Amino acid sequence: SSSQESIQEDIMAKINNHPCYSEGAHQHYARIHVAVAPACNIQCNYCNRKYDCSNESRPGVTSTKLSPEEAVKKILYVGGEIQQLSVVGIAGPGDALANPEKTFKTFKMLYEKAPDLKMCLSTNGLMLPDYIDQIQKYNVDHVTVTINSVDETGEVGSKIYPWILWNHKKVFGKEAAKILLQRQLEGIKMLTERGILVKANSVLIPGVNDQELPNVAKKLKELGVFLHNIMPLLSKPEFGTYYGLNGQASATDQEVMAAQEACGMDMKLMSHCRQCRADAVGLIGEDRGEEFTKDSFVKMD
Ligand code: SF4
Ligand code: SF4
Repeated sequence: SSSQESIQEDIMAKINNHPCYSEGAHQHYARIHVAVAPACNIQCNYCNRKYDCSNESRPGVTSTKLSPEEAVKKILYVGGEIQQLSVVGIAGPGDALANPEKTFKTFKMLYEKAPDLKMCLSTNGLMLPDYIDQIQKYNVDHVTVTINSVDETGEVGSKIYPWILWNHKKVFGKEAAKILLQRQLEGIKMLTERGILVKANSVLIPGVNDQELPNVAKKLKELGVFLHNIMPLLSKPEFGTYYGLNGQASATDQEVMAAQEACGMDMKLMSHCRQCRADAVGLIGEDRGEEFTKDSFVKMD
């Protein structure tokens, strides 16, 4: 239909000047992540809380945590140093929506002080339906949801998430996986219905969700997710990550490629979104995070 076509055009326009998605844009526009979100509300078996959320970041690196005020100072400072800065992301080190006060305080200040910057956030999706209004209000450009299974029985999910925090209680096993899935799908649907771009990440855990990922890809397409990215499980003792069930090893390049093929993915779009740390700075493929230490901007007025 023509309305579908115009949505497609709108999405393409947004993607074309986003450094994480467009081949043309990733050399000209830079992004910054600010690590304002330390807490998380679920446990992934592939996560170690000492490090950054594996949703969007390489495990094994620890980001400098910032208050919303410090984050905004840093962004304005970096914006003065790196002229191509166009995108600000909140991607951990925990979950952006498990820290809603900090996340939305940062977005609100940026919305007021730097309306030209595009904003995005990354989340496990558990709290997503509760924050759609705020995401829209501050003009957040797009949301990344990590979704590793759409198995309604909770069987696959229970091998990935030992528990979630739900209504101030820990919920375990299949029940936890079912709640998480229901919230992820509900949140994604609400976002795409309002025209907010949704990208999804799946962590490929061989022997656990490799058979499940084509179902995930199909469901995401139905919901209007514009891009689905498969990231390999990175499980190295030196990262402190583990895979609880059977000491699962990292996914190999071949396993990732096989999964991408099984999911019928658009390789051209995908290859430009890299895993980057929660305080990454600069053009995609480069990380100038180390240059911008807290001392360099925190005393700024
Ligand atoms: Fe860790 Fe991210 Fe999973 Fe939370 S959502 S447990 S921070 S990998
Ligand atoms: Fe946004 Fe993800 Fe790109 Fe970071 S890596 S700027 S969170 S799309």
